[in-house]
Amino acid sequence: MTYGSSGDLQRYAEVIVKVGLNLQPGQRLLIGAPIVYIGSVPLELAPLVRAIVAEAYRVGSPLVEVIWEDPQLQAVRLEHAPAGSFEEVGDWRYRAGLEFVERGGAILSIYGEDPGLLAGHDPGNVATLKGQANKSTSPLWQLLSQGAVNWSAIVAPVSGWTETLFPDLPATEARDVFWDTIFEICRAKEADPVAAWQQHLSQLAVRAETLNRRRYQALKVTGPGTDLTVGLIEGHLWHSGGLKSQAGISFTANIPTEEVFTLPHRDRVDGVVTSTKPLVVDGVTVERFSLTFKGGRVVASEATNGASALQNLLDTDEGARSLGEIALVPHSSPISQSGKVFYNILIDENAANHLALGQGYRFNVEGGAAMSAEEFAAAGGNSSLIHVDFMIGSGQMNVDGIGEDGVTEPLMRDGEWAF
Ligand code: ZN
Ligand code: ZN
Repeated sequence: MTYGSSGDLQRYAEVIVKVGLNLQPGQRLLIGAPIVYIGSVPLELAPLVRAIVAEAYRVGSPLVEVIWEDPQLQAVRLEHAPAGSFEEVGDWRYRAGLEFVERGGAILSIYGEDPGLLAGHDPGNVATLKGQANKSTSPLWQLLSQGAVNWSAIVAPVSGWTETLFPDLPATEARDVFWDTIFEICRAKEADPVAAWQQHLSQLAVRAETLNRRRYQALKVTGPGTDLTVGLIEGHLWHSGGLKSQAGISFTANIPTEEVFTLPHRDRVDGVVTSTKPLVVDGVTVERFSLTFKGGRVVASEATNGASALQNLLDTDEGARSLGEIALVPHSSPISQSGKVFYNILIDENAANHLALGQGYRFNVEGGAAMSAEEFAAAGGNSSLIHVDFMIGSGQMNVDGIGEDGVTEPLMRDGEWAF
């Protein structure tokens, strides 16, 4: 267990508590409330969790609690539980999250999942399990997405996932290499990781502020297989990783984070876009796919692999064919430089420029939080049951901003910031 004794682990815990959560003296912390399907803490992450808990008490938290989970129990349930079991949810985990939030406590969710864990089980039962869990997490997720408290979602290597990413290495070496990669992309290898994060977050904030001042009506995105014009909503707001809770506590909801992002106009997206990294849909890897947009909707799609899974995704509902996010990430980001696909959206979406099919974020438009569903739609916001990010960026991508007067300005050249 080399990672457990390393200074890197200690520094990672510091990043999580001081930058991710910005946990306050006197504030309780719950680790492992699921916020979207997964999030409970696998037993094997005990060394990381102990380091986080120690750091939380050091900054003055009076109480830290953890919801542990043995992920294998899901497979055991799918194999042995009687028919009808999969509608049943013990929702105490979700209620624990609500209770902590009501008392002003912070929430930490850990994203580490063996992508093959549920493979080979009845897909219908797996879908029922996940669907029930998603329904149960919804009230907590609503509160967190409105900034009810400071919260954060982080990643950690777990077995199964490690073997998937490093199939050629012996188990312990694979685990150490994976941890090392996580420490690297989460800036835990910096001598002063908290200072490094503050500098990084303020650079992202300056990008977002500059883009907000420029008020582009559209972005033009070009690269190999991509020539797309993405209209932006009037009153759109660019955001970066730094958020503020309703109590005024600054926090970073995702560690790592490299993106600045905003809201496309549901009806003003035209052209073709080609993915630069694979996308996993319901366990199927969709590779090298292209989408053709007309009037904001996908009118044609193709993929070298997984075309029917992509088709199913697009057919989810009315809004699944339109965009809910456009995000800019320089090609030189540490995640992109690692050259790996992690099959985990929390990491992968920070590797490259991306778009998301489906639901848009209310906070990406002025006054969005107070809008009714009708008002959000009338403003050009997209609604859907899904929000699926897919990567379009590369070292060959150019992005231009188109102003109200039609004048274009370069934003990215060959995958790097041009302003
Ligand atoms: Zn994003
Ligand atoms: Zn997204």
